[in-house]
Amino acid sequence: MPNKIKKLAVLTSGGDSPGMNAAIRSVVRTCAYHEIQCIGVYRGYEGLIEGDFKPMGARSVRGIINKGGTILKSARSKEFRTPEGRQKAYQNLVDHEVDGLVVIGGDGSFTGALIFNQEFGFPVMGIPGTIDNDIFGTSHTLGFDTALNTVVDAIDKIRDTASSHNRLFFIEVMGRDVGHIALNTGIAGGAEEILIPEEDLGLDRLVDSLNKSRKSGKTSSIVIVAEGDKIGKNIFELKEFVDENMEGYDVRVSVLGHMQRGGSPSCFDRVLASRMGVKAVETLLEGKTNYMVGLLANKMELTHLDKAIKGKTKINLELLRVSDIMST
Ligand code: ATP
Repeated sequence: MPNKIKKLAVLTSGGDSPGMNAAIRSVVRTCAYHEIQCIGVYRGYEGLIEGDFKPMGARSVRGIINKGGTILKSARSKEFRTPEGRQKAYQNLVDHEVDGLVVIGGDGSFTGALIFNQEFGFPVMGIPGTIDNDIFGTSHTLGFDTALNTVVDAIDKIRDTASSHNRLFFIEVMGRDVGHIALNTGIAGGAEEILIPEEDLGLDRLVDSLNKSRKSGKTSSIVIVAEGDKIGKNIFELKEFVDENMEGYDVRVSVLGHMQRGGSPSCFDRVLASRMGVKAVETLLEGKTNYMVGLLANKMELTHLDKAIKGKTKINLELLRVSDIMST
């Protein structure tokens, strides 16, 4: 491996997700394995601008693979969006003799990394960390699997109370622009209907579906609603609509919110984070830059950051059909 790189830095940026710590650990330990130095940058690009750096060795990341959140903290930095802010960040990296940067975050963080590379020629590598699974170039982003498990666990618990009282529950899950969490957890949690941003199913279909499931003898109903559902009503308005237009329903609403971002990462996310960290560091050591590491057909693959940022993930139509059939 041609190795001009002697020191790398790693940061977490944007929204946190379970598995970020496991990825930090992997980056740090892969650096140690290849006998290069590693610096942790606190609070994302904000810390890069302020020089909030800490040298990290293999032992400094002990006991974190099972922890949610990020020990390096995350932030959104307005200053990094300005050329002056990025100049300060670059100067800090030069002063600390850093030769490359691993950015763990979402597409906004990757946009910042790409602009930074274009301005200063500084080598950057991305690891996709977000629970939304909305990044092109990987079948799974870090944290997605854990979030699915968290949501399914919540649905199961809500189901217990729903079926004891013959209730209809609308459960809101994260996903402003994409319905990956809603679709997968809806199927796994046995939802009667799943409302996602990609498809406007319309209120008529919701009414039909609820009537059908009542006639078929179901004692409780669960409808999973992605935050960005396009039916045109938020989850509380959906409840009002059913209260006003459908008789005999005891309707409740549950917004799962930020609990979906927390918790100990699943086995899948820990393994994925470990693989992504190794691939990110070794790709930089090979002299490559501006890529995101991703999982495709169970292999670690590289996607150019530009493509990862601009590409759109698609909803799996087969899952929509499966969900339809399962709610029969
Ligand atoms: P999430 O998916 O959780 O929102 P994200 O990485 O997309 O994560 P953003 O807030 O969009 O989160 O971006 C994180 C940071 O990346 C921003 O606070 C900013 O510092 C930097 N960034 C985003 N877009 C740009 C840009 N166009 N130019 C420079 N920096 C940017």
